[in-house]
Amino acid sequence: MKVAFFSSKSYDEEYFNKINEKYGFKLQFFETRLDSHTVKLTKGFDAVCVFVNDKVDAKTLKGLSRRNIKLLTLRCAGFNNVDLEAAEKHGITVLRVPAYSPEAVAEHALALILTLNRKTHKAYNRVREGNFSLERLTGFNVSGKTIGVIGTGAIGRAFIQLLKGFKTKIKAYDPYPNKQLQNEGVEYVSLEELLTESDIVSLHCPLSPETHRMINAQTLKHVKQGAMLINTSRGKLIDTEAVIEALREKRLGSLGIDVYAEEEKLFFKDLSEMIIDDDTISRLIALPNVLITAHQAFLTREALEQIAETTLQNISGFEKGEINRKNQVGTENLG
Ligand code: NAD
Repeated sequence: MKVAFFSSKSYDEEYFNKINEKYGFKLQFFETRLDSHTVKLTKGFDAVCVFVNDKVDAKTLKGLSRRNIKLLTLRCAGFNNVDLEAAEKHGITVLRVPAYSPEAVAEHALALILTLNRKTHKAYNRVREGNFSLERLTGFNVSGKTIGVIGTGAIGRAFIQLLKGFKTKIKAYDPYPNKQLQNEGVEYVSLEELLTESDIVSLHCPLSPETHRMINAQTLKHVKQGAMLINTSRGKLIDTEAVIEALREKRLGSLGIDVYAEEEKLFFKDLSEMIIDDDTISRLIALPNVLITAHQAFLTREALEQIAETTLQNISGFEKGEINRKNQVGTENLG
């Protein structure tokens, strides 16, 4: 099998080449994003491997089909960037890595909370400049607070496990409540109640037509005064303009994000010598109570190994006609 990788970075090459030693596929890594223009690069390949910001829309899928590509593998869990109806129409199998290391993302969500709260990022810079003042570094005890978890799948559950050490009260919102979590004391409530009661709200649900901008001007009205909002899931779960407004009005106390609605133009690139042509992210960066990381929650050694292993297993299964149905996504996943 000849596989074309898009949006690839040095760490993708390193981990995929290492794990591929036992599979022996021919892997070629393209730094460029897959879209309807770059699809021509897939000529002569059997399969294509993409990441979160590749644009696998109907036009791209038509291009893949024209080049006889029958397999699209996602080296990630989310699949909102793929037009699944078009994939089905062209007979292209879509496989993903549903749960590579939920702990990696959950631990990053916790890192955002603790950094934002105790302002260690600011303290680090202060001390380096010889400023040992503690003024404006006051945080709060996470212990005893109410944490709202939206989406209690693999990552939401891992996040809840981490919080156990903090003796917090957990409220959850998910159309499919988890019995075991309920037995452990997690209380499932409506989205409105979760927002009203929680000191920290963390998003762990997938992006779908139903969850698109679930945090908006209307739902933000319910947020507890001064609450912290954390999003390590997908940028479009929140209406960024409405969130900026809530931060300005001090209704929302702080924001920690690893994902951004318009991240395709920015994230995974070094733009340090460029003028950022996105006023919304510029405003977010300028706010003192906002912490942004550029979609790095998945980036641990364990997760990279697991992603490479599962993706290559997916390709191998497809080649042998033994598709792993648990890893397959189709229109039935559209919610
Ligand atoms: P999962 O499928 O295991 O769990 C998702 C949960 O969300 C399920 O329990 C589902 O019932 C729930 N859900 C669905 N619709 C909902 C709604 N309307 N409201 C509330 N909950 C809803 O997925 P996961 O592995 O936990 O991953 C969650 C998301 O995290 C992924 O979809 C992806 O977008 C994101 N993610 C981000 C990174 C990163 O690096 N930042 C890495 C991996 C995954």
